[in-house]
Amino acid sequence: MAEVFWYVFFGFLWYQVIATFGISIGLHRHFAHKQFEVSKLYEIVILFLITLTGARSPLGWIGAHRIHHANADTENDPHSPDIKGFWNIVFNRWTCKNIPRKYIRDAIKNPRIIFFHRYWKHIHLTVAIISLFIGLNFFVAFIVVPFILGFFGYGFFNAAGHKDYKPRTNFWINILSAGEGFHDVHHRNPNQVRLHKYDMSGYIVEKLFLERSINENAFQKE
Ligand SMILES: [Zn+2]
Ligand SMILES: [Zn+2]
Repeated sequence: MAEVFWYVFFGFLWYQVIATFGISIGLHRHFAHKQFEVSKLYEIVILFLITLTGARSPLGWIGAHRIHHANADTENDPHSPDIKGFWNIVFNRWTCKNIPRKYIRDAIKNPRIIFFHRYWKHIHLTVAIISLFIGLNFFVAFIVVPFILGFFGYGFFNAAGHKDYKPRTNFWINILSAGEGFHDVHHRNPNQVRLHKYDMSGYIVEKLFLERSINENAFQKE
């Protein structure tokens, strides 16, 4: 029994890596909001990591998220908890079938996004089967725990990030979404990198991507 606890715990730590570097920094802040540039290799890492969660197609995620920003808390918001119901959003019971081209014009030109849009299910299934062959404990830590935490973590993020037809800060969201709990700050300015002093993803972006690119630019000018 103690062994199961440790594998779930390792799964939780692994999930934090996926949530931070895959979903929040990668899918949300880089791909959906284009706050900063990353290498093509890191884009592939991001797209791989998010296949391990319940994020589904990256193209669908980017499109639905941009539609959400443009129509937040209205009938056209794909996941408004006030309109569609808190628990429906927690359980990801919403769809966004028609994404107008204007929301994903840049994303459909990215061959890496298109590849993972087409094959995310195949990749997830293949990695799951390989993990199962490695061992049941590994499968639980590497595949099952991140999938469940991603599915509910970002379901809870969409559900609890808005209340009374307004975006809001909810500290609990941060536990499973690496700093996305300061959602009202994010809606006020979707280009703002650091949302709060406890915004872990914003902190990492500042340290890893922005300061480095500023230093590189300064170096090139010399
Ligand atoms: Zn929102
Ligand atoms: Zn956003």
